[in-house]
Amino acid sequence: MSVAVCYAPAGRKGPTTMTSNVIQPVGIRQVAVIGLGLMGSGIAELVARSGRRVDAIEVDQGFLDQGMARLHASLDRAVSRGKLTDAARDEILARIRPTVDLAAAVADADLVIEAIPERIDLKRTLFAQLDEVCRANAILATNTSSLSITEIAGGTRYPARVAGLHFFNPAPVMKLVEVISTVLTSPEIDETLALLSRDLGKTPIRVSDRAGFIVNALLVPYLNHAIWLLETAQATREDIDKAATAGLGLPMGPLTLLDLIGLDTALAVLETLQAEFGGTRYVPAPLLRKLCDARLFGRKSGRGFYDYQRPGSPAAAGKDHEVGPVPAEVALIREQDDSLGELAGRITAAGISVVPHPSGQTGLVIVAADPKQRVLDAAMATAHPADVVGVHFIRAGNFIRAGNGEPGLAELVLPDVTAAGMAAKAAALAARIGLNAVISRDRPGFLVEALAYAQFNDAVRMFQDGYASPADIDTAMMLGCGYPHGPLQMLDDAGPANVVSVLEAMHAATGDPAYTPVPLLAEYATAGIRFRS
Ligand code: NAD
Repeated sequence: MSVAVCYAPAGRKGPTTMTSNVIQPVGIRQVAVIGLGLMGSGIAELVARSGRRVDAIEVDQGFLDQGMARLHASLDRAVSRGKLTDAARDEILARIRPTVDLAAAVADADLVIEAIPERIDLKRTLFAQLDEVCRANAILATNTSSLSITEIAGGTRYPARVAGLHFFNPAPVMKLVEVISTVLTSPEIDETLALLSRDLGKTPIRVSDRAGFIVNALLVPYLNHAIWLLETAQATREDIDKAATAGLGLPMGPLTLLDLIGLDTALAVLETLQAEFGGTRYVPAPLLRKLCDARLFGRKSGRGFYDYQRPGSPAAAGKDHEVGPVPAEVALIREQDDSLGELAGRITAAGISVVPHPSGQTGLVIVAADPKQRVLDAAMATAHPADVVGVHFIRAGNFIRAGNGEPGLAELVLPDVTAAGMAAKAAALAARIGLNAVISRDRPGFLVEALAYAQFNDAVRMFQDGYASPADIDTAMMLGCGYPHGPLQMLDDAGPANVVSVLEAMHAATGDPAYTPVPLLAEYATAGIRFRS
């Protein structure tokens, strides 16, 4: 049975006697979507696909036409891919009523979803207006990514009916919806929005109002960390991106993803996180601010970390590395660590001679690199430190669970003592023997573990704070960001004790408290407890 509840005090129009206070999804028939931009057009499409009537509202006819054109294009794409028939597309479109008349459009809405720009002043003004013109039992939801929903609700007279409904881009495709309740939101509203999300084919995760919710609080600091790595010359932009895709199995590298999300959006989220949590983890990388000041916002402005008008052009920041001549003889120091065993076979098979100790003929000296330790120390222990490159394998099975232990990625690590030109030789060797390689400076964690473990630490902190369960954290990152496995599952696979050691080394090397293992991680590591098993 469909029921409704009045969130206004007695006296306002609307039903007040209920058998249950939870409005079932079938009770939400008329939905108003405000703001037909990137998100709003996708949300309007999604809701109309579910058979509901949608009022799609914009500020003026120009924006309305743009939004409807985006929506038409999305449905046309679905038709051309055979996922929708012409007739179904026409039925969906017939359920959508584009308009610029806000008051008239929201008057009969059961649910209003706001998707206007991420500015608290705009949202508060709009919600105060909605409070006046909506029915007393209408639910008011915001799609904000990072603003305080409590603050948005605070501008209304009936904050109990205000909640967050955070879709991911593109809304018709991405399976996650974060349903966010404030301390003032009625529990029934929260329940109704979760049921509705399921009815729309999504997986809802219910959380309270906190900066960044689950996904952005974990994703955006990781993206910012990638910018710090670029800015401090740890690696090239391509190698930072490759570390995430080939090393962690993520669908996109962090710098490419930043260009897609928009650098200005990422900066705004970081500033919100910084204001709420403080500390060093959320301090925006100076390069992020500079690119934003230069209006290099990413794809939407044609250039960010990459140049979309001149693909393949040099990085706006950081250096590209060169590929040099393949050395004729390689010394492979395997005394302390035999992780390089199979490397010898590959190099020999490529017709390059391998010796156990460097001589005057040796073009390159390879040592095993451990993300917890400096390669520099191993280099100084050889007679030829300037010729040393460390190699660290990220194997299929380390983070990407399916796999047979084959090296998926080799991190070629350069201590500062290594001579110029060695990176180019190591890159040439890797290419010759068919290794997928990235080049990293000799800093703890190198690239893959530095990026991943700092995020795992954030994920444990979120669980430690009681904000979300390990299962919800992992589901949110898988469905919201396309992770093959959640961060806590990956942490379990990497081993909590190992993660703690690398984080401690990162902390010792940088002095940055952001890398201190959170107490719960240290406890789990000591006790041998896993987060997901
Ligand atoms: P956008 O700039 O593409 O679209 C916003 C639209 O709102 C514009 O078309 C604008 O004309 C319209 N608008 C502004 N004021 C309005 C008003 N008073 N009434 C009606 N329309 C109005 O922005 P977006 O990327 O779609 O983001 C919208 C919201 O969704 C933001 O809060 C954002 O944080 C959130 N969000 C964005 C993403 C993303 O990937 N872009 C993902 C999740 C959530």
